[in-house]
Amino acid sequence: MWDAVVVGGGLAGWIAGIRAAQRGKKVLLVTEGVGTLFYFSGIFDYGDVECLRHFPKHPYTLFDAQAIVQGQHFVQEICPDYVLNDTPQFAFTVLGTVRQGDLMPRSMALPDQQEQGEFVLLVPEGLKDFFPEIVVDNMAREFPGWQVSVKRMQVDALAEWTRLGKNVSSVDCANIWRSEEGQRALAHEIEEIKRQYSEAVRLQGKVFVVLPSLVREYFDSSRTKSFRAEFSLPVLEMSSFVPSPHGRYFAEYLKHIFTDLGGELMIGARAVSINEEPTSESQAKVCQELIVNSMGKSLRLKGKNFILATGGLLGGGIKVGMARQSICEGVFDLPLFVPKEWSEPQFFAPQPFALIGVETDQFMRPLDPASGQVVWDNVYVVGRMLAHWDPWTQRCGGGVSVTSGYAAAELV
Ligand SMILES: Cc1cc2nc3c(=O)[nH]c(=O)nc-3n(C[C@H](O)[C@H](O)[C@H](O)COP(=O)(O)OP(=O)(O)OC[C@H]3O[C@@H](n4cnc5c(N)ncnc54)[C@H](O)[C@@H]3O)c2cc1C
Repeated sequence: MWDAVVVGGGLAGWIAGIRAAQRGKKVLLVTEGVGTLFYFSGIFDYGDVECLRHFPKHPYTLFDAQAIVQGQHFVQEICPDYVLNDTPQFAFTVLGTVRQGDLMPRSMALPDQQEQGEFVLLVPEGLKDFFPEIVVDNMAREFPGWQVSVKRMQVDALAEWTRLGKNVSSVDCANIWRSEEGQRALAHEIEEIKRQYSEAVRLQGKVFVVLPSLVREYFDSSRTKSFRAEFSLPVLEMSSFVPSPHGRYFAEYLKHIFTDLGGELMIGARAVSINEEPTSESQAKVCQELIVNSMGKSLRLKGKNFILATGGLLGGGIKVGMARQSICEGVFDLPLFVPKEWSEPQFFAPQPFALIGVETDQFMRPLDPASGQVVWDNVYVVGRMLAHWDPWTQRCGGGVSVTSGYAAAELV
């Protein structure tokens, strides 16, 4: 019997699983896929926490300020390159515009816009979905006092691909930058830039090489450690775009941390329901068995606690049929909060469907909105499955997922 069975391997599930394993709990994480980490920009958004804590029923109201800070420190503990500042931090998006972020890698944090300097955008030939002309225009608009130029780079390891007319994704590039050969090629290219821009370096000292893909392996673990070349100019990374190298390597890294701590994993397995049969020691409020489909088999997994981290509509945790009435949470069949109107006609307006999810008590146990009663005593709901928040307009996706995942792990 596991102390905790975590269902879902997105950001919230991994954080919960790692923290619970770190606390010495026997943990199993069951997941069908990687969740929305596939889209992760590399930056954890927390939003305006103080303001959101005044929104009725927002997940941040479940936690005190200390819990939010604990989650942030936990991220920094596992990702030491991530920095949190008292003042807002900004990074380049893949369009060359600037976006705010709360916890971001040191290598993404932009210099002061008021100062002057030079950006050299270094673009590998053949990079898919990346438009240097547009990017450079936007960068120049965002940093009016700065010079911006483009340098294209032929990557030997990709020469055959580009010769065949095949596009290179940001993940392909990141793969190459992670290798010793790729790091040396980058170091060589950056040395060339330094030579070319020696006058600018001499006059203002601030020349940054900007790269549109993950350049450094900063999700270091003993198993994923990669070679790091010395670069002769500072390098700035843009936030990730789909398919996200940051998300991909972060998910891999989290998996290593979890298993190194003794956590057990079932990947490609779908939790489908629970065994509701009451047993003598159960008051019907304690869930005991989860039913999981894995490799054509149906398995019954016993746990003392269950952490539901299956994401919302996008993560696959909430199923919607053709008729509205058929919306349901897919494992425990938990009652959902569903607004009367799902959408707003204005595209950029906050969309009510974003608030769909499970309401909980202050210990993240699911509630029946009609009666206000706790449905299961030993089930904790985390991340995107929680009701009453909107990651897009409130910009707090990472913050809610990390805080709730961490807090649930403290309760099991
Ligand atoms: C496009 C996009 C970009 C984003 N970018 C950022 C960003 O840059 N920064 C930021 O802070 N936030 C970002 N967010 C928000 C943030 O990523 C999400 O709020 C957060 O990742 C939600 O995590 P989660 O673990 O709750 O759910 P998910 O990431 O959706 O994970 C759910 C997991 O559960 C699994 N699952 C589902 N059903 C089952 C089942 N029955 N059995 C087993 N497994 C199951 C899925 O396979 C998946 O692994 C973004 C969100 C989106 C949609």
